[in-house]
Amino acid sequence: MNIYKYLWFFGTKPKDSTARLLPSGKSVHVAKNTTLLSAALEDGHDWPHNCKFGSCGECKCKLIKGKIKPMVDFSEALTKEELDDDYILACQSRLTMDCEFEVELGDLIRVPARTCNAKVKSTTMLTSDIMSVTIGTDSDIPEGKDRPGLPGMWAELSVPGLDRPRSYSFASAPQNENKNEFTFFIRKVPGGKFTEWLFSEDRDPEECVTINGPFGSFYLREKETPIVCIAGGSGLAPIKAILEGGVNDQIKRDVIFLFGARTQQDLYSLKEIEEIKNNWNKESSFKFIPVLNMEPEDSDWKGARGMVTDYFEDEVVKKENLNIEGWQAYLCGPPPMVDAAGECLTRNGILEDEIFYDKFTDASNS
Ligand SMILES: Cc1cc2nc3c(=O)[nH]c(=O)nc-3n(C[C@H](O)[C@H](O)[C@H](O)COP(=O)(O)OP(=O)(O)OC[C@H]3O[C@@H](n4cnc5c(N)ncnc54)[C@H](O)[C@@H]3O)c2cc1C
Repeated sequence: MNIYKYLWFFGTKPKDSTARLLPSGKSVHVAKNTTLLSAALEDGHDWPHNCKFGSCGECKCKLIKGKIKPMVDFSEALTKEELDDDYILACQSRLTMDCEFEVELGDLIRVPARTCNAKVKSTTMLTSDIMSVTIGTDSDIPEGKDRPGLPGMWAELSVPGLDRPRSYSFASAPQNENKNEFTFFIRKVPGGKFTEWLFSEDRDPEECVTINGPFGSFYLREKETPIVCIAGGSGLAPIKAILEGGVNDQIKRDVIFLFGARTQQDLYSLKEIEEIKNNWNKESSFKFIPVLNMEPEDSDWKGARGMVTDYFEDEVVKKENLNIEGWQAYLCGPPPMVDAAGECLTRNGILEDEIFYDKFTDASNS
């Protein structure tokens, strides 16, 4: 490792610099208070990444020329060989001078991100622990078709004093949002810094919430094959947005949409889902199946029961003798649900490349 490239112990300060990316030859302006990854994503480059706080290692790249200031110890996420080979974590690096990096950019659609100051405008409890949160900003956000972003993407929310921003998926297609508003479905995480603040009764409604986005690669890929969507808990947000987008564009694709929840009280947005179903392209089918795994046996629930992925495999694929080879899948929710769904779908013939997902990781499971 060339330790002279890592200048934190010499006290060299980050400064506004330019990062040249090889082999693409693209350039990114990196402001002194911004990480290399944030600057690249804000510029609309498809830089591979996931956690954004230095633990997954997916944003690693090779420093070819110049010097950076690391914000954490890279050895947590990079191997000794990678460190010796001058690999760095883009999400935890600021630049102290113009630099060159080797990074294989992808071809995903990236939308240039924008940061706005906003406030929590209104909240509505959807279940005992999930709240619909509308964030309003004075910034002028284009409306309708001009609204930037794709259904399924997410934004970073931050409040003063929070250690790092938290990611939240937009719960509506961009076209369906009201002027200068953003809607999210947010689950309260016990002991969670941001959600404990958000759900607290004495929260200052005037507190400034910084919103930065849109980000992410969870959006509908153009194809004509049928789609299976599986959502769990607040993971309904981006799935609902994607399906709203499908209605807006009147796509002609059959959909099976399974929504996993604990009990009837944990189902929400059913009216909106009914509306999506009613407005789905009439040349295609739309089947919605809510599946409950903790509903009391003696309740009045006549619908599907069990784990949502088991239900899909046993009661839909096997019982209906459904061939799902060639289908696309869109999954969102808690990491164990997304992992289980991914395994179930590949086992039943959907190619890994056709399974798209966002896992709602947090500090306890990322
Ligand atoms: C792409 C993406 C999109 C997302 N979209 C949504 C969404 O639409 N809706 C939604 O509800 N959530 C979403 N999430 C999750 C969200 O970003 C937050 O992680 C979640 O709301 C918790 O934030 P918090 O600040 O309340 O909790 P945190 O402060 O992050 O803590 C979470 C939990 O971890 C524990 N913890 C804290 N530090 C540690 C540690 N060092 N080791 C072990 N445990 C620890 C805490 O006690 C708590 O129980 C998304 C996540 C991602 C990655």
